[in-house]
Amino acid sequence: MEKLKILEFPDKRLRKVSEDIVVFDQDLKYLSASMLVTMYEEKGIGLAAPQVNKPIRLIVMDISEDRNQPMVFVNPIVDSYEGTAESNEGCLSVPDIKIDVERYETITLNAQDLEGNTISVYADGLLSICIQHEIDHLDGKLFIDYISDIKLQRLRKKISKQNKAAKIEQQKNTRLI
Ligand code: ZN
Repeated sequence: MEKLKILEFPDKRLRKVSEDIVVFDQDLKYLSASMLVTMYEEKGIGLAAPQVNKPIRLIVMDISEDRNQPMVFVNPIVDSYEGTAESNEGCLSVPDIKIDVERYETITLNAQDLEGNTISVYADGLLSICIQHEIDHLDGKLFIDYISDIKLQRLRKKISKQNKAAKIEQQKNTRLI
């Protein structure tokens, strides 16, 4: 297993629609294990394959407090949903930004496991929200797409400033070496 590099907004690869998975082999198991390692190291509760530059329909998550209940879903689809819930979200691909997003309150998820077996999960609370956030990644959608244009403009400015600052910091570091 290896820690993978996470793509960051505004990387265009985050906007691709990911492909269905049809082969359930060792590579898929290795990738999902590596994604879990990456997610734990980055202190996230969920990660989608396109975030690590693999445009396939695979998501991993762990919403437990003890970080010992990993979940992996292949080809996940929200089959039915009910109610709405406001959630304050962040994303490993959009660092340091937190916004309120409206999600479905409860969902029924249809998916497959790493062997290709069909699974169905009823989810509420954080699990429901996390699944919806990760499936959005598979469709090239980011949580910041849910906010108004004006707010988004401000957010873009903030992110571009951060990126510039990071670049300058990098250059400084380069000179030091
Ligand atoms: Zn995310």
